[in-house]
Amino acid sequence: MRLDGSADAGRPGALDEAAIIERFFRRPSARDDVLLGIGDDAALLAPPAGQALAVAVDTLVEGTHFHLGTDPRALGHRVLAVNLSDLAAMGAEPAWCLLSLSLPRPDPAWLAGFADGFFALADRHGVALVGGDTVRGPLAATVTVHGFVPAAQACRRSGARPGDGIWVTGTPGDAVAGRLAQADGADAGDPALAALLARFLYPEPRVAAGLALRGLASAMIDVSDGLHQDLARLLVASGAGGELVVEALPLSAALTARAGGEAAALALTGGDDYELCFTLPEHHAGQLVERARAWDFPVTRIGTVTAGSGLTLLRAGQPCALPPGSYRHF
Ligand SMILES: [Mg+2]
Repeated sequence: MRLDGSADAGRPGALDEAAIIERFFRRPSARDDVLLGIGDDAALLAPPAGQALAVAVDTLVEGTHFHLGTDPRALGHRVLAVNLSDLAAMGAEPAWCLLSLSLPRPDPAWLAGFADGFFALADRHGVALVGGDTVRGPLAATVTVHGFVPAAQACRRSGARPGDGIWVTGTPGDAVAGRLAQADGADAGDPALAALLARFLYPEPRVAAGLALRGLASAMIDVSDGLHQDLARLLVASGAGGELVVEALPLSAALTARAGGEAAALALTGGDDYELCFTLPEHHAGQLVERARAWDFPVTRIGTVTAGSGLTLLRAGQPCALPPGSYRHF
């Protein structure tokens, strides 16, 4: 089945393709740069003159990225959110997306929930769904996003220079704490736990922050695999080293209450945060603080880019090893 409206007699389903499109995925687009959306063989899109097209793709697979029984609303949100996070990390403004769904069977209640979560986030960011595909198979969702950024202002990973500050948005570690608590069957009625779980299920892509960091950040990456690993990638791309002050990590009260002495380890290695980690020349710090007043999440300096290579963790001013990742038991 294809969301473009063409026939696919080889894969019949109780809910046919035309019905899936009409009921769940065809929405009027407010964007005048969508010349032709869902309904033909391809969409026709009009990128703005003078800007580069930023493109990213991400797939979520049941059993690998989410467990059986995950709320389809959360999945619809998440598969778009992780892609918008990649655009945010480039300083790009999101515009269009494509969706490919692999479904064991077309279940109307599941599709309605997925579409609700997906479009609620898409609408908040002015993103139009312009095409896609559905196939019969194990549950998986792939989204490709397109956004715009003036090429010279795109925030690459490679621009960090010795002396730049290392910063992170939000409070990393919350999402993995929520994921682990859910996996351990913790009491979902606990409000502190619900807040952590929401950070895992409904990550908020830092699109506005990414746009505000154009022209300020020297390099940027989004934190998907863990702050330590993603920052290390940025430093490698920049041909630089870095020092990260463990005590400077912005740990949420909910994370500290849940994880205690392992909170820093979760913040460094947990992943699924979809926060922005970026480097900033010292003379831009004032402008960052000014722009960050509009954000409803913190932005925190956690270290400094150095000459050389490798990421060094500092605790009490002394180099230390990555905190042990043995956090499975809580
Ligand atoms: Mg990324």
